[in-house]
Amino acid sequence: MEPGLSQSRDESGTIIPMNDKEYLPKRAMSIHAHPDDQEFTVAGLLVRWVEAGCEVVSVVVTSGEAGSNDPSKGVAYKPELARLREAEQSNANATIGVRETVFLHYPDGELEPTLNLRRDLARLIRKYKPEAVITGDPQGMFYGNGYINHPDHRAAAQAALHAVFPSSETRLIFTDLLTEGFEPHKVKRLYVHGSEKSDTWVDITATIGTKISALKKHVSQLGDWDPENMIREWAAEEGKEHGLDFAEAYKVMILSEEENRG
Ligand SMILES: [Zn+2]
Repeated sequence: MEPGLSQSRDESGTIIPMNDKEYLPKRAMSIHAHPDDQEFTVAGLLVRWVEAGCEVVSVVVTSGEAGSNDPSKGVAYKPELARLREAEQSNANATIGVRETVFLHYPDGELEPTLNLRRDLARLIRKYKPEAVITGDPQGMFYGNGYINHPDHRAAAQAALHAVFPSSETRLIFTDLLTEGFEPHKVKRLYVHGSEKSDTWVDITATIGTKISALKKHVSQLGDWDPENMIREWAAEEGKEHGLDFAEAYKVMILSEEENRG
């Protein structure tokens, strides 16, 4: 890939090859609804950022305690499954090189984009001060012909978007956060995955192996299924029109022009 392509932003979008440092946040925050969401979607970019020195904070809104259809398990299993899935997420995050993991313990399968969730995410953004936040698309409803997006995914993404803007940067929104000592913080970039309006394709050819290794830590969800072929097919599909073997696609919102260019 020619280095000159990295800065181009035309009708074909922005192509970011592997060795490119067009944008590198010093700190980033990944916000997702369930353990494993991050690994299915954005882990290739996170590994790329981590390997370039970025500190990543991973926020997991629910602990995935509804993630079992085993007829022998009932409601009493949910706390046990939550602990198991938190441990799996911690293992996945260790594989990615995540600096810190935060579990918010909202109810799996029943998540709403409430003000309380928005406030909790704004608090974390003000606390950790990420330059970039990475999350899903709250408008993503249908993927292909076979998958209705999980409502928790949309709820977490919507709350994350509005925690980024305007809640974390506006002093007099959630003034209880000020009382707690959390001053406003402005996020510079928002990376949205799963968008129909993707405008940036990130080369994950060198990091897809780690992405798959991290995903495989979610043993309770995968069972005997090996997700490698599917992840490679998805990433090949994203990359093929952009000259990349494996890619993740994003819509990137540039909220501040004060950039860290390396
Ligand atoms: Zn999920």
